[in-house]
Amino acid sequence: MQILSCPFCGPRDESEFHYVGEPKTRPEPANTVSDADWASYLWFNANPKGETSEIWLHLACMEMFAMTRDTALGTVLGSEALKRPTS
Ligand SMILES: [Zn+2]
Repeated sequence: MQILSCPFCGPRDESEFHYVGEPKTRPEPANTVSDADWASYLWFNANPKGETSEIWLHLACMEMFAMTRDTALGTVLGSEALKRPTS
């Protein structure tokens, strides 16, 4: 069992979290992106060894946030709320 920290709720059991993916920028405009670039955006990840930033969802509060982890050591280095657009 591992304890992960939600920036909104604090430390919780890992079973309350779902991995969303690596932070990516959607290629735009989508109708002009090549099939290869679109497939890369959808399906391929860098999956780096060492420190990396990932997007996670806390299922208890349904908030997504960024978590920094060291994938080689399996340690969590921090988590922070995703910035929301202001309108
Ligand atoms: Zn939460």
